[in-house]
Parts: sequence; structure tokens; C-alpha cells
Amino acid sequence: MSTHIVILGAGFGGLELSARLSSAFGDDVRVTLIDKNESFVFGFSKFDLMFGRERLEGVRSYYRDITKPGVEFRQELVVSIDPGSRAVETDRGTYEADILVVALGADYHFSATPGFVEGGHEFYSIDGALKLRELLPSFTSGAAIIGVMGEPFKCPPAPSEAAMLLDEWLTSRDVRSAVQISMVLPWDMPIPLSASASQAVLDRFAERNITFVPDQVVTGLDPAKKVAFLRDGIELAYDLFLGVPVHRVPAVVAASGLAVDGWIPVDQATLATRFRDVYAIGDVTSAPVPKAGVFAESAGRAVAEHLIAQIRHGGSATPYDGTGACYIEFGDHKVGRVDADFLTGPSPTGPFTAASLETAQEKKAYAETRRQRWFGE
Ligand SMILES: Cc1cc2nc3c(=O)[nH]c(=O)nc-3n(C[C@H](O)[C@H](O)[C@H](O)COP(=O)(O)OP(=O)(O)OC[C@H]3O[C@@H](n4cnc5c(N)ncnc54)[C@H](O)[C@@H]3O)c2cc1C
Repeated sequence: MSTHIVILGAGFGGLELSARLSSAFGDDVRVTLIDKNESFVFGFSKFDLMFGRERLEGVRSYYRDITKPGVEFRQELVVSIDPGSRAVETDRGTYEADILVVALGADYHFSATPGFVEGGHEFYSIDGALKLRELLPSFTSGAAIIGVMGEPFKCPPAPSEAAMLLDEWLTSRDVRSAVQISMVLPWDMPIPLSASASQAVLDRFAERNITFVPDQVVTGLDPAKKVAFLRDGIELAYDLFLGVPVHRVPAVVAASGLAVDGWIPVDQATLATRFRDVYAIGDVTSAPVPKAGVFAESAGRAVAEHLIAQIRHGGSATPYDGTGACYIEFGDHKVGRVDADFLTGPSPTGPFTAASLETAQEKKAYAETRRQRWFGE
């Protein structure tokens, strides 16, 4: 009987892994890919939704379109995981895996920040981005805060991108001069990996009159007084609060015993968990890389290589390299790029390519190649 690999979660990590396993083995290995949703949406498409650049249908890729030899997609909710026996229960059935890969991403804990549910908005979920799309046109004056409410959070440049895109959007509607934009971040620079990318963001902030509030997190909101409380006792008045929510593992992962100190620990080179033949990739782990799609993708690639070598009883897999090209939207249709490398050298590096229209095209091509590779569209 062929090896049965069960992949939980069809985001960046799960999709990359299943596509690579299919290319390597075709029908010789059985891959079951499970996700509760019917479609995949890139994290960065939430900006397209929020600022009305795209409709939801335009940014969705449907899992039913996956036609990869050996891969069967199931739209089911995972309700329990037993890592010791590699048994998985969903709302529709049970699975016994020879090899289990957990790629369930990070969930949001909106109520962890007092006052946020009542008084704030967010662009980290599709629902949040769609609500903002309705609300933004009525925001024509006052103070807008983009504030991080906890670490770690997905895509370290995303709050900076939100600030620069909000500036662009308000400018296009001729109301920018009536709005003050501030961004609250837990670090002393916008993109800690790259001093040059951080400087470019700060230059753009200075040029566009966006206030950077470093080394702080938003710990609560008073929706009645419209005040945001920061960690060090600072209070900031707001009219529009866009929060980056506290993140946590999905409840099913928390209940499985896989997580330690909040996230799933993995072997840095192989992404194996401490349970035999159980791997974890992407945002759900505490691997020493930021939570971002490009690193989930490179983790999917690394586990694929590892499993290909293991199943073929030969060859050795390259250790996980923690690399990825991170694209940063600067506004005016321009995109910059940080070539992040967290694990191949003695310390992480992130050379920066300045924002341009060419790199914006490159980002589009990046998304298109993934759609083709993962969905065969
Ligand atoms: C505004 C924004 C902008 C971003 N921009 C970028 C960017 O430019 N570049 C970049 O690299 N990253 C970006 N990201 C981050 C990126 O989207 C995530 O880091 C990435 O999706 C993580 O991949 P993953 O495979 O680990 O998890 P995910 O892609 O989150 O996939 C996890 C999957 O598991 C499924 N799932 C969860 N629980 C269950 C369950 N119980 N049962 C069944 N299925 C379940 C989910 O439906 C989901 O499809 C951005 C994120 C945001 C919010």
C-alpha cells in the first residue's frame, strides 16, 4: 500500500508541499489535503479588498480546481489531532496518516485586547478587510492609528504597508490633509531584518507625514472615549483604529498537545516535531523565521524534499533555509523587496531592492506562478 501523507491546512505551506509531492510521486503516494475553507486567498490580497482594488471573487483560488495526481482535497474542519498515533478527526470523518504535516497557520484572538472588538477594526481577516472597504469611504477626517496589539504577528511589514496604502487612498479621495496617520509597532524600526528597507519606509513616512510610534504595543482601547492605551502608559486619541490582533494557534492545535509556549516547536533543519513522522510548517510553528507566507512556502519545500528522500530511501535533503522574497507595498503602485535569509548564514540578512513599478510587476508574477503551481490554473 502506498504511503498516506495527510496535510492539515491548505495555505502557503500546505499548498506548496502537496504540489511538490504530486510532482515527485504522482499517484504513487497518497496525499490528503484538508482545509475548512473552499478557497485560498493570499494574505496581501486583503489590502486589495480593503482599499477596493479587487472584489473577493477576483482574489480567490478554489480548492476544487486542484487536479494534482495523487492529491485529494477535502473541505473539512479538523476537530482533533492525536500526534502520537497520527490520527485526525474532522467534522466528516477520521484519517490515519503514515506521515502527518500540520500547516494550520495562526488564528486571531480579537478579545485578548480589551475594547478592541467594540471599538476597533482589522485588516488581517477577509471579513475585517471587507468591513473596512464599506467603512473607509465615510472616514474623511480625524486620527487614524494602525496599531500592533501583540507579538508575534503575521507579515512584519504589513502594518507599515497599511499606513502607506491608507495615505495613498486618502490622498486619492482629497481628504488626506484632514487625517493624521500613526503607526504603533513593537520594534525600533519598521522592518527589523533590514536597516535599508526600514530607512526607505521611514523616508516615505516622513515624506507623507505618517507618525511612527516605535517600541510600543496597543494594550487596550476605550471605545467610549476613543483612546488607545499603549504598553508604557501612553494614551493616543483615535477616530479610526486599525489593529493587528493578538495571534495564537488554532484551538485544535492547542488541544492536541503539539504546541509548547504557544506554538509548535520543530527541528530547525527538517521541521519535524517531537512526535514521530509528524511535521509542522508555517505560521503554526515557533521556527526561527517571521510568520509570513514566503517562509511557510519555503518550509513546505523543505519538508517535501525531506519526504521525497525518505520515501525513495536515498539522497539527502537540504536543511530548511528560512529564505523568502518579501514584497512591501509603498503606495503609488510601487513595491519594494527584501530578500530575507534567516538560516543559511551566521546571522539573518535582508538586502533591500528599492520600491519600483517593475518590482510591483514582479510581485504580480510571484502570485501568478504560485496559483499555477498550486492549482494548475
Ligand atoms: C494583511 C496581510 C498581508 C500579508 N502580506 C504578506 C506578504 O506580502 N508576503 C507574505 O509572505 N506573507 C504575507 N502575509 C502573511 C501570510 O498570509 C501568512 O503568513 C501565510 O498565509 C502563512 O501560511 P501558512 O501556510 O502557515 O498558513 P495559512 O496560509 O494561514 O493556512 C492555514 C490554513 O489552515 C486552515 N485551517 C485552520 N484551522 C483549521 C481547521 N481546524 N480545520 C481545517 N482547516 C483549518 C485555514 O483555513 C488556512 O487555509 C500577510 C498577511 C496579512 C494578514
